[in-house]
Amino acid sequence: MSGTKLFYKQLFPIEDIFDLDPLIEGIKKARFNGIFFPFSYSQFNGPKISRRQYFDFAPFHTLAKQAGLEVGLYIPCFESAKLWSKEDFSPPVNHAGSSAVSDEHYYPLCPNNPMSFNHFKNILKRLARLPDCDYYLFDYLHFPFDWERESLDVQYPLPKYCYCPFCVTEFSSMMGEVVSTASQIMEYLEEWLEWRTQVVNNLVLMARETLGPKGRIIISVPPISPDRFTFYDWAIAGSFK
Ligand SMILES: [Zn+2]
Repeated sequence: MSGTKLFYKQLFPIEDIFDLDPLIEGIKKARFNGIFFPFSYSQFNGPKISRRQYFDFAPFHTLAKQAGLEVGLYIPCFESAKLWSKEDFSPPVNHAGSSAVSDEHYYPLCPNNPMSFNHFKNILKRLARLPDCDYYLFDYLHFPFDWERESLDVQYPLPKYCYCPFCVTEFSSMMGEVVSTASQIMEYLEEWLEWRTQVVNNLVLMARETLGPKGRIIISVPPISPDRFTFYDWAIAGSFK
């Protein structure tokens, strides 16, 4: 495909600046066009995530640029073990009314939960202070869905998440009546889906506004078709300026 670019994605921080040279050499040899650095990363205590740290990537950004590579940041948004560990955190709720359960790989956040929304705003604040990147890959910028472990149920049109009090209250106030159960929402499916799209859209617009003209934003969107179900397809499908 013409215009396709290949990026190497470094998910964990590089400990030492000297470790970047061999990495860059390898990346260029493999004909990658650039590198994605982690915006933040999890620190593990055994198999459990103990906390999330920001990666101080400025010096690595400079060196990668000097080597002629494009630079991207990989930014997990509505996913955080740290928030889940807070006492007053309320998890997303599924269409059957049950609270989400986290596993060590995925701690889903509902974008409408004020605590999660603040978390996103803090991410944006920090991004505004970092060196300019060519790409910003906002991962988990969607309602909770564990695409790696759950398949889409095409027979059932309601998304599995999220029906938390924040979601149903906000949707109800938009509709001007109380809409809370899955069967009620099914009646307003079109409006429900449109409203959810708007929620995500607004978040992307917030990101664009914060970044100004800096770089391109990439978000993951639902798969194009069941047989093309990979993160990269999502990323490509959701890429826009
Ligand atoms: Zn919710």
